[in-house]
Amino acid sequence: MVARVIPVAPFDLVIFGATGDLARRKILPGLFSRFRAGQMPADARIIGSARSNFDKAEFRELIHHALKEFVDKELRPQEKLDAFLDQLDYVHIDATGDAGWQELKDTLRDDTTRTFYLSVSPSLFGPIAERLSTRGIATEDSRIVVEKPFGHDLASAKALNAELLEYFTERQIYRIDHYLGKETVQNLMALRFANSLFEPLWNSTHIDHVQITVAEKLGVAGRGGYYDQSGAMRDMVQNHLMQLMCLIAMEPPSKFAPNAVRDEKVKVIEALDPVSPQDLVRGQYRAWRDVPGYHADVENPDSTTESFIAMKLAVANWRWAGTPFYLRTGKRMRARSSEITVVFRDPPHMIFPKMEGRKGNALIIRLQPDEGITLRTTIKEPGPGGMRLTEVDMDMTFADALGSDLNSQDAYERLVMDVIRGDQTLFMRGDEVEAAWAWADPLISAWQEAGHKPVPYDVGSSGPEEALMLLHKDGRRWRPVGD
Ligand code: NAP
Repeated sequence: MVARVIPVAPFDLVIFGATGDLARRKILPGLFSRFRAGQMPADARIIGSARSNFDKAEFRELIHHALKEFVDKELRPQEKLDAFLDQLDYVHIDATGDAGWQELKDTLRDDTTRTFYLSVSPSLFGPIAERLSTRGIATEDSRIVVEKPFGHDLASAKALNAELLEYFTERQIYRIDHYLGKETVQNLMALRFANSLFEPLWNSTHIDHVQITVAEKLGVAGRGGYYDQSGAMRDMVQNHLMQLMCLIAMEPPSKFAPNAVRDEKVKVIEALDPVSPQDLVRGQYRAWRDVPGYHADVENPDSTTESFIAMKLAVANWRWAGTPFYLRTGKRMRARSSEITVVFRDPPHMIFPKMEGRKGNALIIRLQPDEGITLRTTIKEPGPGGMRLTEVDMDMTFADALGSDLNSQDAYERLVMDVIRGDQTLFMRGDEVEAAWAWADPLISAWQEAGHKPVPYDVGSSGPEEALMLLHKDGRRWRPVGD
């Protein structure tokens, strides 16, 4: 199957923080990929901006290096690189100062949609939004994109929303959660709402429980300073895992339109019951052989920040009452693996002999790596000797089914193109972010007030024993990490 490419209209995209890590590693390589695919028109322009006092040639040189570093050689023929770099411009601006804004305004075209991508620290969102607005650089149809983290708690998220909403309308604001740009995450919606097969079963009558696992093999070395202030709850659960949970638990929206989808997601967050302390496990990886433990990675021997968290959630609504959602995420685990497992209830009356070790029907959605879907079914074990049962997986890997090229588009390139097209479906609305913080805040304060310390777990494991017990005590089991 060949990916269809629909070119977007000409645009002016200004990237603040264009010399930074994210811009060089993700945003510009993503844009180059869309350019190579023919989606970016020849009269689209990308205007980098940062504090570094570069001229246009120096900025192009910087991005040339970045593309050589982050794009595979066979994907960057020199003539394509040259043509792409030709579309780059640069304006040197310190976002907290007064210089450079007029030059930026003069650089932008009047008849072209303007997008401002703030790939900078959140402390600069307000100063940049204010200057774009008061200096007449942003127009009514301009868009502003902001990176994560969107707040550290409810109060800071509200403050960021207020700062942006003073100068831009909600319709103009695109809050990125790159998880939502992943092909497989979007496929959750296609799977649920483009098939009639699953919907009749998608409720507590038929689903026993849901597991969401986002496991990483790497530790936090290199970004320990940031991570130690954040922890797994703020860095992963409040945003990424909560988004996955919403897509699994939400009601079908009336249409595939930004607010219709986001309305339903907010309702899921608002329906979450408070989490009791016994349904929550926080862990921290400990040193093993020559692999340093968390404390060495963050250079704070007393840190009580969690590098792992697992919890049992209840969505208190008609559809999900009685079906728990178990979430877990952690660093330095056995494998890098993100997946959602929907475990179905057993048939009400089993007419066959009991099968030892039966796990039951499950739909496993692999988000990464090896993106695809597995349906675990029970069939007859072959051969004579009576009716013995066994379980087999009906497995579909997207790369095999659709061609690996279709799946190779990075989340960033998809999301940037969505902004250019003006499609907010895969971006978090202000009230959605605030609802997620309003849910997370009391949990975090409760363990902080109790002086709770995370339990240790081994590098390369599935997390602490206590996290396994979270399911065992309910008579359930986690699907092994990276199985
Ligand atoms: P970074 O490497 O530290 O780059 C920061 C960028 O901001 C640089 O281009 C820097 O310009 C610019 N900058 C800093 N102060 C400025 C000012 N006063 N005026 C104008 N420009 C200024 O950071 P990053 O890793 O790219 O991250 C950028 C944002 O994305 C952050 O909010 C981060 O949390 C978020 N994010 C990053 C990643 C990632 O993988 N890196 C992932 C998700 C989210 P100069 O270098 O020229 O001073």
